Amino acid sequence: MKEGLLGVHALVWGGASTPEQYGKIAERARAAGFSLLEIPLLNPDELDSTTVGRMIARAGLQVSCSLGLRFEADISSADPAVVARGREHLYRALGAAQALGASHLVGVLYSALGKYAIAPTERGREHCIEVLRGFAADAADAGVTLGLEVVNRYESNLVNTASDALQLSAAIGASNVMVHLDTYHMNIEEEDFRSPVVTCGSRLGYVHVGESHRGYLGTGTVNFPAFFGALTDVHYQGPIVFEGFGSRQQLPSGLVETLALWRSLWSDPDDLARHAREFIMEGRRPPAPIR
Ligand code: MN
Repeated sequence: MKEGLLGVHALVWGGASTPEQYGKIAERARAAGFSLLEIPLLNPDELDSTTVGRMIARAGLQVSCSLGLRFEADISSADPAVVARGREHLYRALGAAQALGASHLVGVLYSALGKYAIAPTERGREHCIEVLRGFAADAADAGVTLGLEVVNRYESNLVNTASDALQLSAAIGASNVMVHLDTYHMNIEEEDFRSPVVTCGSRLGYVHVGESHRGYLGTGTVNFPAFFGALTDVHYQGPIVFEGFGSRQQLPSGLVETLALWRSLWSDPDDLARHAREFIMEGRRPPAPIR
């Protein structure tokens, strides 16, 4: 069986702005044993994507991209002008993903990333479906798979469970729109760590691994044996990416507040990343045969 790619989020090292900085992060990700680097596209225009893509490829890594829309560019808004800005952001991100050579564009593609003051509206949901239907077709032409990330109630009002994501992806009706599960969010919203994976089955296309407090894997309340066991049972072969966020001072502006990253749970990103890779490899290892 072909093993899926094991990846790490660039923000473990606090992110970067220049291609040289990204090249260094790619080398550290490679040294920690990963084969894919996830690049956040919060400001896609500020990134020299072609050069960054070349630096990452030189380090021998594959690339994926992620984003969360802003409230002023939210495709699930009832206001068409706000929706139009969101659509524009998605296309800029797709352009950057292509230039980076990314296979996947994932995250909160369907709404703003942040705490909503209101429940989703029917009109807003229709806007979201309409935009993502067209966007998915263009992403497919670019060879890019989309992942709708299931996030907790404080980070979106539209998709909080695997079932929400499956319903939205069915309404969009495109084969390259997959569900993206994240154990950190599952810990808050789902009943357990197995059934969401089983419910998604072959529609699961991307996975974020994070601990309940976003620190070292295995030191929080996430039931990783149940989660990894379910991945094996549904024959999941997509990317598995460790997500972490470096020190407050290094992170892009606004992200600390949006994700409520008030505490530092670790200090050495290289050690954290190495530990995460070993933890995932160990968790994914099939049990020894019974004699
Ligand atoms: Mn995530």
